[in-house]
Amino acid sequence: MRVLMVAPPGAGKGTQGALIATHFDIPHVATGDLLRDHVARQTELGRRVRGHLEQGELVPDEIVLDMVREAFVSAKAAGSGYVLDGIPRNIEQARATYRIALQLDMTANVALHLQADDDELVRRLLARAALEHRSDDTEDVIRKRLALYHDVTYPIVSWYGQRGILVSVDAMRPLEAVGREILAALEVMHSLVDLIPDEARRTIDLTGLGAAFGSADGSADMTAAVAGSADAAPADAASAKPAAVTDSG
Ligand code: AMP
Repeated sequence: MRVLMVAPPGAGKGTQGALIATHFDIPHVATGDLLRDHVARQTELGRRVRGHLEQGELVPDEIVLDMVREAFVSAKAAGSGYVLDGIPRNIEQARATYRIALQLDMTANVALHLQADDDELVRRLLARAALEHRSDDTEDVIRKRLALYHDVTYPIVSWYGQRGILVSVDAMRPLEAVGREILAALEVMHSLVDLIPDEARRTIDLTGLGAAFGSADGSADMTAAVAGSADAAPADAASAKPAAVTDSG
């Protein structure tokens, strides 16, 4: 299973990424964690990126793309699955990630979008700030990171939607409920990913399921929508059919 995640800060992508990785026994590649580790170890790279992290700005693309290339090579050696958490963050990264993955025959099967509204995200991030003392969890920096998400990261969601390989989930609910929904959707896709042709794919939108998820009448038509290469180039996306995606993430 090859999954990439697109989510605003505070939506729980770290937790859900770890859950997916454990469930499918695949590497969890979290660019934010890798960068924070460099900062903590005071490596040369850590010194270069520290200011960006503290200000809630994106670090230069080439730094994270080198990390992704390395991660893809290791993931390929380990069995070819992965869950990417934190990248791509803008259109250039999305294109480059796709190109790197293509070279290695490692393009993603699923683009998982976690949706949550800003007020809830700010509330969660401030709570996390009190617990974890992350240097980028002050209210100013949080607002900046959210604005950055809406401006440069969110637009890539629609590519994946147009391509029909997007799974959107409502991340406003408790983490366990969101996690169950994600795993159920990915399990269905996992078994069908290589069987359904591109033209038969369509977006999976689970955001309306809410508390009904898991009940007999609450399940979406997940079998009809199966992913191929999630991290498509924009040129591909432009020719694909439109999908209903809203910017509430
Ligand atoms: P995260 O833990 O994913 O919220 O990332 C924390 C911080 O790491 C971000 O606010 C950025 O400063 C940096 N970062 C993580 N991933 C990327 C990326 N793909 N591109 C640029 N900066 C990133």
